[in-house]
Amino acid sequence: MRTDSLNELIFTLPASPDLRRGACLVVDPDLFFNPNTEHAAKQVCLRCPVRGACLDYALGCGEKHGVWGGTTEAERLELLRQRPPVRRRHPAECGSRSRYLTGCRCEECREANRQYNVRRRVNGYRPPVKDLVEA
Ligand code: SF4
Ligand SMILES: [Zn+2]
Repeated sequence: MRTDSLNELIFTLPASPDLRRGACLVVDPDLFFNPNTEHAAKQVCLRCPVRGACLDYALGCGEKHGVWGGTTEAERLELLRQRPPVRRRHPAECGSRSRYLTGCRCEECREANRQYNVRRRVNGYRPPVKDLVEA
């Protein structure tokens, strides 16, 4: 997105009211969109009270142009690249009660569930009815 005025953009961002307190609001917006003045723009960000929110916003929407939250576009790309991928839970494998609880009724899963219930009974624990699953 090409932005001619950072101020204009910021004032049209209802989702980011924080940015309305940005230190750049009293600075020439061009400073933030010119490679030659990147350093000066970053200096403004350094004393900005909403730098974190600004960076989150820019990373979140993949803002391509300008200095945001003290970072250039190249730096934001690097940050996004370094972000750990979203963790996916390892699916339960057969032979476990977890897998049984997801609906598998194979021999191994039924046995795992049976063992689980036996252990609980041996330990003298009476599980709540909702936890008792028939093998
Ligand atoms: S961090 Fe920088 S670009 Fe973001 S609102 Fe503050 S001064 Fe503006
Ligand atoms: Zn199974």
